[in-house]
Amino acid sequence: MSPLRSATIVRRARAVLLGGAVGDALGATTEFMKPAQIRERIGVHREITGGGWLNLLPGQVTDDTEMTLCVARGIVQTREWNLAAIADRFAHWLSGEPADVGATCRRGILEYVETRRLAAAPNEWDAGNGAAMRVAPVALYTLGDEELLSRLAVEQAHVTHHHPLSDAACVAVGRLIQRGLLRTPLAGLRATAEELAARHPEFRFEGYDGESSAYVPDTLRTVLDAFFSTGSFEDCLVKTVNRGGDADTAGAIAGAIAGARYGLSAIPRRWVNALDAGLREELASLAEQLVRNSPLFDRA
Ligand code: MN
Ligand code: MN
Repeated sequence: MSPLRSATIVRRARAVLLGGAVGDALGATTEFMKPAQIRERIGVHREITGGGWLNLLPGQVTDDTEMTLCVARGIVQTREWNLAAIADRFAHWLSGEPADVGATCRRGILEYVETRRLAAAPNEWDAGNGAAMRVAPVALYTLGDEELLSRLAVEQAHVTHHHPLSDAACVAVGRLIQRGLLRTPLAGLRATAEELAARHPEFRFEGYDGESSAYVPDTLRTVLDAFFSTGSFEDCLVKTVNRGGDADTAGAIAGAIAGARYGLSAIPRRWVNALDAGLREELASLAEQLVRNSPLFDRA
C-alpha cells in the first residue's frame, strides 16, 4: 500500500473513533428527552454543553465511548483477538461503578465475572444497543475482510447481548464503517443498509420519524434515516441527537459511520476540542494501531 493511501486510511480510522466520542458527548445532553422538549428548552441542540440526565461536564463521554475503549484496548494491548481481554476490560470498567450502564451489559459482565463464560445464552430481551454501540474498533481491526468482521463483531456482542437483531445491527454498523472508510459510493452504503432492512424488516428506515430507544432497531433506524437524509458529518449528528431518546448512543453510532464517510476534517473542530485531550489522543492512537493490524495492511 502506498504511504499516501495508508495515511488516508489512518486519518479516516481516527475519524471513526473520534466521531463516535463526539456523538456520545453531544447526544448525552438530550438523552431520554422528547424532540418537543428539546425544541422548547434548547431550540436546535448543536453544541457540546454537557448536562443531561447524567449532569455531565461539557465534553464528557459515557458508557458508549467507555465500552468502545475497552474493546479497542483489549485488541491493541494484547495484539490479537482475545475476547477474554476485552471482557476483562468490561469487568474492570464496571467495577469502577460507571454512572450509566445498560441492564443487559451489566448482567452479561457480571455473568462473565462469575463464570468466565464469553458468550451469553440467547435471550429474547437482548435486542438492546449495548453491543452495536461499541463495535467500531472491530470494524477497524478487520478492515479488508468482511467475513472476519461478521464473526468478530458478533463474538464481541455475545459477551453481553445474544439476539439476532443485535447481531445483525453489529454487522451492519461494522460494514457501513468499513465500506465508508474505503470510499464506497453513497449508493453502495445505502444498499448495505437496505440489505439489513430486507433481511430484518424491523430495521426499515426510510421515512422513520420515531426516536431511538433501548431497542436497537429503533436506534439504527434513527441513525440510518439521519445519515442518508443529510450531506455532512455535522448535519447527520445534529439530526440524530435532536431526536432524543437514546440520543448519546445513536450519536455515537452515527458519529462512527459518518466519521468513516466524511473523514477527520469534516468533524467540527469545536466538537473535537470539547473532548478531553487525553481521550482524543488515546482514540487517535488506538484507531491507528487497529487499522495497522488489519488484514488490509497485513496484505500490503
Ligand atoms: Mn451512554
Ligand atoms: Mn445511551
